[in-house]
Amino acid sequence: MTQQAVAPAHIASESVLVAAVRQWIERANSRFDLAVPVPQVRMDLRGRSAGLTVYARRHRQRALIRFNASLCARYPAEMLNETVPHEVAHVVTAWRHGSRVKPHGPEWRAVMQCLGKAATVCHRMDAPASRAMRYFPYRCRCDEPRYLSTIRHRRIARGAAYLCRRCGSRLVATDGDSVISPDRI
Ligand SMILES: [Zn+2]
Ligand SMILES: [Zn+2]
Repeated sequence: MTQQAVAPAHIASESVLVAAVRQWIERANSRFDLAVPVPQVRMDLRGRSAGLTVYARRHRQRALIRFNASLCARYPAEMLNETVPHEVAHVVTAWRHGSRVKPHGPEWRAVMQCLGKAATVCHRMDAPASRAMRYFPYRCRCDEPRYLSTIRHRRIARGAAYLCRRCGSRLVATDGDSVISPDRI
């Protein structure tokens, strides 16, 4: 099976990650003859971890995968080709065996092998630099959230207005999590 090439320029968007997660889940489903639902995806992870799977409270319900937005922006290829299948393999392992088995034990490694991926546990991506900035989620008429720097976020809190450069509508703060990134996002 060929892997779809994804343009790095589009990686920061959640929709690309969601598509990649779906692709790997469908691959695992067909190889293991399962019906694992596509997990929820969030880009709210900070610090050193590239991804984190949050298992559903009840066995065989929809899981959640959290990704590190900062690492997504800086290491798009690694995130799509390594982190996504790594986390999807956790979801599939939990579906087959429950979430009590060792996270990177033989059950998980078997799924990774079946997906054609090396069962590596640590990533080689650098954690965000110390001068990383915090960005706050805003909404406009576009589908995806916009992120504004702390400076702009504070100006808006004091009454300033910013328009989305793409759709032209006014940006409104959402109650989503802020993210830390060394790059403008
Ligand atoms: Zn893991
Ligand atoms: Zn917009």
